[in-house]
Amino acid sequence: RALNFNAGPAALPQAVLEKAEKNWLNFNNSGMAIMELSHRSKEYEAVHNQAITSLRKLLSISDDFEVIFLQGGASLQFSMIPMNLLSEESTANYVLTGSWSDKALKEANKIGKTAVAASTKEGGYHSIPNLSDIKVTEDAAYLHITSNNTIYGTQWHQFPDVAIPVVADMSSDILSRPLNMDQFDLIYAGAQKNLGPSGVTVVIIRKELIKDNGKLPTMLNYHTYSSNNSLYNTPPTLAIYLLSLVLEWVEETGGLEAIQKENTEKAHALYAEIDESNGFYIGHAEKNSRSQMNVTFNLASEQLSAKFLAEAKHAGFVGLNGHRSVGGCRASIYNAVPKEHVHELASFMKNFRLNN
Ligand code: PLP
Repeated sequence: RALNFNAGPAALPQAVLEKAEKNWLNFNNSGMAIMELSHRSKEYEAVHNQAITSLRKLLSISDDFEVIFLQGGASLQFSMIPMNLLSEESTANYVLTGSWSDKALKEANKIGKTAVAASTKEGGYHSIPNLSDIKVTEDAAYLHITSNNTIYGTQWHQFPDVAIPVVADMSSDILSRPLNMDQFDLIYAGAQKNLGPSGVTVVIIRKELIKDNGKLPTMLNYHTYSSNNSLYNTPPTLAIYLLSLVLEWVEETGGLEAIQKENTEKAHALYAEIDESNGFYIGHAEKNSRSQMNVTFNLASEQLSAKFLAEAKHAGFVGLNGHRSVGGCRASIYNAVPKEHVHELASFMKNFRLNN
């Protein structure tokens, strides 16, 4: 297995891939592969419902919420959220903490009125704003945050306590830690980091937010999904099957507390090297905003960064280039990245530093 630090699609648990491979041609003795089954069949429906039940259990999601599966990636949610939650009388409030929240805001601007509730853009997205600096408008329909900023490597460690619905893009840190669902009203995530392969998007939405005004296109209306158990049309069956296996793996690993403990240890291994390097590695995120999923850093010069990336590639590390919009280096260490791989990277970084 490669030393895979890709930002998404990203490493999947080996046990999940092995299980899928075992069932590849003959799912549950049906004589068919999972993607050959009808989405109306009992066998598929069992997988579909199991994925929903496991997610509910892992995140302690109460009956006040619907769990729905869609396509179109997290990017489609940038549009669907304002389409479904914003009215002519209200304003969508956004906290800007990186490129993805910026994109979410731009889409909302096309639908209705928006406001920036807080932003760390001017500082270069090195941090998450203080909760006390978040100012929402009186007519706010919701407050949108990006819980983990995949490109800049920052993460929220506390969440806003506001009297309006909180919407969180958790594409790059869902299932990395336990959550208190009371703090959220809508959570969404493209699957291709911690949940499974690309192709399915998960939305967890408080039931009271789902309203059918009869005007939205059917496939852009949350009500269509919630009233049909996400089976109004053909869902991405293979992706949902793999999601169900990933959820089973998280449960078998000990649930979200155990996953969080491991993630903390993994992130610490890399940040400790950055901190001990005395400026050889320059972490992008301020310490109290550091992400446990995406560790972003630079070296003193572009040449040295390029040398580091070239030698890392030669040593077998995959995916360490920073996002094309910011450059530098980024190690994405999602749930499925084994801690041994992270320790190997930390040792590589140390040796590179000592030799350069
Ligand atoms: N939001 C965040 C935080 C992301 O990291 C990404 C992709 O990396 C997206 C949104 C966009 O997701 P998708 O490609 O599923 O539309």
